[in-house]
Amino acid sequence: MIGTSLLKSPFHLTRASGFSYACQACRRCCQGKRIPLNPYEVARLAAHVGTSTTEFLARHTEVGGAILRRTDDDTCVFLGPGGCTVHAARPLACRLYPLGRQRTAGGDELFAELQPHPQSEGIYGDAGTVDAFLEGQGVAPYVAMADRYGEVLVRMLNALARREACAEAQNEAEAALQHGPAVGEDNALDMDAAVTAYGAERGLAVPADVEGKTLLHIQALEAFVARLDASPGA
Ligand code: SF4
Repeated sequence: MIGTSLLKSPFHLTRASGFSYACQACRRCCQGKRIPLNPYEVARLAAHVGTSTTEFLARHTEVGGAILRRTDDDTCVFLGPGGCTVHAARPLACRLYPLGRQRTAGGDELFAELQPHPQSEGIYGDAGTVDAFLEGQGVAPYVAMADRYGEVLVRMLNALARREACAEAQNEAEAALQHGPAVGEDNALDMDAAVTAYGAERGLAVPADVEGKTLLHIQALEAFVARLDASPGA
């Protein structure tokens, strides 16, 4: 959820709305931002820099892997003198900028313009559409995976909250977790750790490509949620 103070306009744009934006590479949009990450975005970035998601989460993220790490002057760690050093694998928030995206309860998409940096040199217009802008930024797989992770993570958090709320059943639930599939609270969002454990337990080969690995990860998370739901007291 994007705070209203970060918005230049409310969420009212659709993909058909008139919109265009020309980046002038002033680099100011990569300062003072908290760039959120989901496991797919972490996996794309990790593959791009040639490391595991476990290593990437430890080295390049904050808040338990929820956002990209920033330098002491509040600049993204991947901003270099010539711009973004991970451009081909940049997260969804960077691809959407200067727009924010929200899904309504009915599953529809709405977009809003974000407050730009006061000295941003980006040029706004309405020569194109939101949809054309998004296509140019290659958002499609990022949006699809954001929605899939959003759904399974909400279910996981609800299941964990229910389990926590039932103190009597907690010990039994934890025992079930220890004897259930290897994906648990400690490694659930670390894709490489989770799919390695899940694949080993089920005798499944772990795909080498990020897209295939992501689908196996979502399957592992859904199994984890199903086990939480089946735990006594859940
Ligand atoms: S990932 Fe790249 S585009 Fe996104 S904030 Fe960091 S430097 Fe900027």
